[in-house]
Amino acid sequence: MDPREYIELEELYGAHNYKPLDVVLNRGQGIWVWDVQGNKYMDCLSAYSAVNQGHCHPKIMAAMTEQAKQLTLTSRAFRNDQLGLFYKELCDITHSHKVLPMNSGAESVETVIKAVRKWGYKVKGVPEEKAEIIVCQNNFHGRTITIVGFSTDPTAREGFGPFTPGFKVIPFGDAKAFEEAITPNTVGFLVEPIQGEGGVIIPPDGYLRTVRELCRRNKVVLILDEIQTGLGRTGKLLAEEHEGIEADLTLIGKALSGGFYPVSAVLSNSEVLGVLRPGEHGSTFGGNPLACAVARTALKVLIEENMIENAALMGEYFLHELKRINNPKIKEVRGKGLLIGLELFPDAGGARRYCEKLMTKGLLCKETHEHIIRFAPPLVITKQDIDWALERIAPVLSE
Ligand SMILES: *Cc1c(COP(=O)(O)O)cnc(C)c1O
Repeated sequence: MDPREYIELEELYGAHNYKPLDVVLNRGQGIWVWDVQGNKYMDCLSAYSAVNQGHCHPKIMAAMTEQAKQLTLTSRAFRNDQLGLFYKELCDITHSHKVLPMNSGAESVETVIKAVRKWGYKVKGVPEEKAEIIVCQNNFHGRTITIVGFSTDPTAREGFGPFTPGFKVIPFGDAKAFEEAITPNTVGFLVEPIQGEGGVIIPPDGYLRTVRELCRRNKVVLILDEIQTGLGRTGKLLAEEHEGIEADLTLIGKALSGGFYPVSAVLSNSEVLGVLRPGEHGSTFGGNPLACAVARTALKVLIEENMIENAALMGEYFLHELKRINNPKIKEVRGKGLLIGLELFPDAGGARRYCEKLMTKGLLCKETHEHIIRFAPPLVITKQDIDWALERIAPVLSE
């Protein structure tokens, strides 16, 4: 079939809630993907950081197919032999006490909202129905009604109300604003260590440390959404490590399965998730043996194959080399590890056209917001691959 035909089918029968680049892919390996005509591309998006381990990692694939032959779904009505091991291994590497497994990232965000509200009523002593959660401007936490209700992106929220009450929005990166927003009814602060969808926005040094201390002093649960920044992306297992802190609750998803399968999780100290009783929360697929087997191996290869160290080293090199591109269209290049944003001045005409042009040169990336190109390749990228990418990026930007 001609690529146009696949595109027409999608356009005709599918809802138009995305505007993808017109490249029809059917194969992936490591940092590379191929289209239906056999053209090869470097993937510099990694499915929004869900394929940190690289496409079709052979060990994760083996774990998935082996488990698929054995047992895939029990529901949580029964136990299975993968779940406890998944919990233990995840807690060991992230220094957590408890885990609640879900599927999509948005579901784990919804899960923490429930858990932290309940904790507020049961433990902190907030009056019923009064719990407040503080979030940041320019956030991205997913697409459910509750989550888009506290988004500040008009495209994400307009036309979808009425929304869930109980959220307060403050500027990102401003610890003073956070301190002033806290009331006796504040139960949690939900924040991304780096705003990924927001355009790779890095808060000032020390921000998370200050916020950590303010949360402790005011008995507010610090919730870090590491669904995008976590699992090696920024050169650490969790981005919180850059500031030497530990959140009370951490959300992970995306790369937790290496891109094979939707797996997300809430990581917690024992107090907060401890408030949930049987029947109060759940998911048919959450914690299923297939998901657990895939996630256990996805975590294992991330660590055993030194992908986190590689992300730190290669990220530093990529960032350094992008910064060296001398082009008046570039406003700023910023990033941590392999989460890099290149912001163009508005008169460059928008980031989309450069992404389209890069696609014709064999490099896939995606604009975020109007003027920012995000470079977030799988963490298995080599220096040679980065040089290959740079040879294409610099000329395209100067066209
Ligand atoms: C992608 C993302 C989510 C939502 O995850 P889904 O699996 O798409 O629901 C939430 N938070 C952050 C920071 C993300 O990048």
